[in-house]
Amino acid sequence: MDSSFLLPSELDLELLDYELYPDRIDLQVISTASSTCCPVCGHLSHKIHSCYHRIIHDLPASGRRVRLQLQVRKYFCKNTDCPRLIFTERFVTGLASYARRFDRLNQVLTGMGLESGGNPSTRQARYFSVKVSASTVLRLIKKCNMPSITAPKIIGVDDCRAAVAGV
Ligand SMILES: [Zn+2]
Repeated sequence: MDSSFLLPSELDLELLDYELYPDRIDLQVISTASSTCCPVCGHLSHKIHSCYHRIIHDLPASGRRVRLQLQVRKYFCKNTDCPRLIFTERFVTGLASYARRFDRLNQVLTGMGLESGGNPSTRQARYFSVKVSASTVLRLIKKCNMPSITAPKIIGVDDCRAAVAGV
């Protein structure tokens, strides 16, 4: 099955299996990267220690929640000078360490939060089958880079009237 339309293209992922439910789609996915760099020393490692499953939420498809069971590998760091012996593989883009949602879902939720706030975003997200709390939306807003605004040094009386009137 061609899974390129379901999985983020920037990640090296392979779809193993899927199950359709009335309200969600479960995907079993594995990382196809053959090596990864240690997050502490940057040493490239090919030696796999073990693997575990992580649940990741993605943008909905066909009106259903999409939930990935991602098999993530742990590697040995072979650098003898490195204090980290075992580390979990990292994804360069698209999925942050320890994240439970893909970046593209976080971007949509952040945009909704900036437009309408925490609680309205939670209600809106239900319309496209995403369960998220208001506090999560607010946390996402706090993480995003806002443009810096320089405070004016001198404010005239007319500026204050314009600000109050919304002009
Ligand atoms: Zn290392």
